[in-house]
Order: sequence, then C-alpha cells, then structure tokens
Amino acid sequence: MPRRAISYGRQTIEEDDVKAVAAALRSDFLTQGPLVSEFEELIKAYTGARFAVACSSGTAALHIAHIAAGIGKGDKVITSPITFLASANASLYAGASPVFADIDPNTFNIDPAEVEKKIKYNSPVKAVVPVHFAGLPAEMEAVFAIAKRHGAAVIEDACHALGASWRDSNGNVHKVGSCSHSDMTVFSFHPVKAITTCEGGAVTTNDKRLYERLKRLRSHGVTKESGEFELPSDGPWYYEMQEPGFNYRLPDVNAALGISQIKKLERFVSRRTEIAALYSVMLSKYPFVKTQLALEGKSSAWHLYPVRIPFEELGASKSDWFSMMKSIGIHPQVHYIPVHLQPYYRRAFGYGPGDFPNAEAMYAEEVSLPIYPGLTDEEAGAVVEGLVSTIACASAARPVSRPRAAV
Ligand SMILES: *Cc1c(COP(=O)(O)O)cnc(C)c1O
Repeated sequence: MPRRAISYGRQTIEEDDVKAVAAALRSDFLTQGPLVSEFEELIKAYTGARFAVACSSGTAALHIAHIAAGIGKGDKVITSPITFLASANASLYAGASPVFADIDPNTFNIDPAEVEKKIKYNSPVKAVVPVHFAGLPAEMEAVFAIAKRHGAAVIEDACHALGASWRDSNGNVHKVGSCSHSDMTVFSFHPVKAITTCEGGAVTTNDKRLYERLKRLRSHGVTKESGEFELPSDGPWYYEMQEPGFNYRLPDVNAALGISQIKKLERFVSRRTEIAALYSVMLSKYPFVKTQLALEGKSSAWHLYPVRIPFEELGASKSDWFSMMKSIGIHPQVHYIPVHLQPYYRRAFGYGPGDFPNAEAMYAEEVSLPIYPGLTDEEAGAVVEGLVSTIACASAARPVSRPRAAV
C-alpha cells in the first residue's frame, strides 16, 4: 500500500484547535482582543519567565529583542553560522553586523570557546545570540558568563527549543525561556515548530523595562499606559509614540490557536522524544550515521533530528541521495546552508568558504530526518530503512577510488 509522503516536519492540528479558531473568528476581536494576553500568560506559566510578548513571527520577535537590547548602528552581534537566516538577519535590521562563532562539531551548537575569541577581537559586541540547535540547549552557563564579562546582552534564539530544559553545574534545572541565563528568549510558532499559531513568535524576559519596550516596539512605538508617558496626558484618548516601532502584533485568531496548542506542548514534546529514542536505537546499527551529542543534563525539544552522514567517505553524493529519498516519498531537509556562505553575507561582509570549518564540514554531512508528533513508529522505521538502502545505492552509483564503506 502506498504510504503518504513523509516530510521533515509538520504541524499537529486537532479538532479542538479548529474549534478554538472558529470561536475566535466569531468573537468581537479578530486582533487586539483578550486572547493575546491569555496566550502570553500561558507562555509565562510554561517557561517561568516574568514577562512574555507575543509577536507576528519569530523573526519579528528577534528584531524587537535586538532593538530592546540597545543594539544599533555599528554594533556587532555574535551568533552561530549554522542557523536559520533570521538569527543573523535580526542584527542587520537593527543596523548592526553579525559576527559568527563556529559550532562544536558534536553538539552542533555554538562553541563557547569560539564566542570568547570573537568577543575579544570584535569590539563592540553588544549581544550574543546562541541558537538551541534542533532543540538542544546551547552551553548557556558558559555563553552567559562570557557575554556578561564583556558587557554584552544574551538573546537566546529558542525557535527550536520550546519545551527543552537543561541542568546547570549546581544541579538546578532551567526551562528554556525562563531567561535564567539570558536577557531575552525568542520563540517561533511557525507550523514546523513545537506548537503553532500559523505564523507567530514571542519574546520572554524577566526585565520589566525590556518588557515595556518590547510591547511598545510591537505596536508602532506607542504606549497607552499613563505610567509610561513622557508628557502630560491630554485626556482619556491620549497615547504617545516614544520611538519608531512596528506592527508586529499577533492577531487574536492566531492567539486562539496558540492557547489551544500550548496546552498540548508536553504531549507533543514527549512524542518527539519517543521518536528520537527510536531513531537512536535503530541508527545504532549503522555507526557511520552520527547523531547529535547531548551533553549531561540536557533535554532536547527535538524540533529536528539532525544526523551527520560522511557522504564523501562513503563515496556517495549527498545530492543524489537526497533525490533518491524524495523519490521513495521521504523528504529530509538540510539544516542549514551556513549563513556566512549566502551571497549577501559574502558580498556585504567578505565572508567565504573556509571561514568556519566546523560549520562547513557539518553542512557537507548534515541531514534532518523527519520528526513530528504525528509520525508513527512504522514511518520512523521506513525512514531508517530508506536511508540505509538509498545510501547504498548512492554510493554504488558513484565511481570511487577508495573502498566503499559497508552499510
Ligand atoms: C523558525 C526560526 C526563526 C524564525 O521564526 P519565524 O517564526 O519563521 O519568523 C528564527 N530562528 C530560528 C533558529 C528558526 O528556526
């Protein structure tokens, strides 16, 4: 029986999600109503942060987080070259320049030792933006200590990591989003992420001043809170624009979906964790496939299931293999083309091949296997079976000078 095509990620929408959205559509407020703050309360309750600001996308959330952190013209911001474009683009929007710090080849996360090097030689670094790659928390204790020593803010790009947590060296457990080791944390609710609002995102923080500024920036730089006014109020209609802001609001209809979805987050993350464990057992038979190394005490949200396959050593072409997988109805994905190799970044900042060897080596080998709550055990089995048989084909299809590895 032909099975459905398996993509690398997909949303889980259930009947009660549909009902929640329909109810919002029938309510008085499609946007700027009560559901956004209700959603924000749930984000706060889940992450443990004191404040949350829901936005129209994760990218919008990153943008206003950068401005709120005081990043502006001429500043530098350190992030990982192995991330979605938006992590680095956010610094451009704020008028700053991204500086990349190479990854650790085993955890796939930014290497604190590289952050330390880059922060010393790229003055003034205003912020460090670690990305919790695939949902696995980055080395936050080290990154936070380095950033604070150099007076830089820390903005966690946790777009992969809603539902992740990690244990510090004193044994305390921190939920990603609690901002225990950062100034702000950013999430995305794009359909492939842990929960969805179609498009959407959020910033969490424990700093009241950052919170107030984020709220203003989300909506045209305008405040209606009398306590925040610079000038005397003219009357009950009065509002003030205090800086140029944006329309980065999340509509209530989308917040209704977010409220319904966040209640399922634990279930979604535990199913992702089950699938990851299943992959790990199945792949252990094929030692040429390297999985992401989770250091002691880290609990991933498993947004992705990234693996490294040494295509070159196997005498296989990654591109042929990728096409073969698609032809059997399995759609892996590559995360990511290193950001510094994008034409814009080469042109604007002079980056090029060889600048970040670990990121580039990872790009040559990385593929993300399908993982999402609706993926069945049988489908996960078919993915591994498909991977192994197509690798064998892709290496057989290629003339090789060295002996082919047995698969
Ligand atoms: C998805 C994602 C973003 C952007 O989120 P959008 O909601 O799509 O704007 C930013 N950074 C990372 C690492 C992401 O995966």
